[in-house]
Amino acid sequence: MSLSYQVIYSKRKTLGIFVERDKSIVVRVPEGTPKHTVDEVVNQKKAWIYDKLGHQQKYHRISDSKEFISGEYLMYLGENYQLKVTPKKFDGVVFDNDFIISVHNKPKAKEIFKSWFKSIGIKVISNKVDYYATHLGVKYKSIKLSEMKYRWGSCTVAGVLTFNWRIIKAPVFVIDYIIVHELAHLIHLNHSNDFWNTVAIQQPNFEKAKNWLKENGKILEADF
Ligand SMILES: [Zn+2]
Repeated sequence: MSLSYQVIYSKRKTLGIFVERDKSIVVRVPEGTPKHTVDEVVNQKKAWIYDKLGHQQKYHRISDSKEFISGEYLMYLGENYQLKVTPKKFDGVVFDNDFIISVHNKPKAKEIFKSWFKSIGIKVISNKVDYYATHLGVKYKSIKLSEMKYRWGSCTVAGVLTFNWRIIKAPVFVIDYIIVHELAHLIHLNHSNDFWNTVAIQQPNFEKAKNWLKENGKILEADF
């Protein structure tokens, strides 16, 4: 099945494929890009386009089978950002409205992204934990991010907080909810009405976050 799409030439430096709300496909390309190059790229991105067409209202699927090639998307704080692999030599990940890595690091892309997400994640989460702990009037002992599977966070009676590093991919209101949920367990060890009332005082829209997790949990379970 071939896809029909509109090509718009512009001053941009890279090719971008957009699936519009009416499900039409627009490809924005740098001036002078030959038609066959556009065809080729669209062909390579077919799976992504179909996915996008089928999941217009939802976040598109992001799987573990990422190849770390230019044009792929990675989710961060609930948004999808495009990956660019450049020939320039540098370490780690540069985030500048796109994710940029050096082609030299492509073989270890998964590791460098994991460590980038973890190092950003611990900062974002620590700040939020401090904020909500103060508001809830609770004291915690330590925070760490780990490789939890099928869980977003946990909290021991002693106040040791553990969060799944992948939650940094979720929108901020979801991260807030996960943190408030775990901290509220320092007051209530169960999921009683009192517990949910405590959560609701900090996060009046916590149901929205719970629903987001129900619908998009699969995206979070994958590494990227
Ligand atoms: Zn709980």
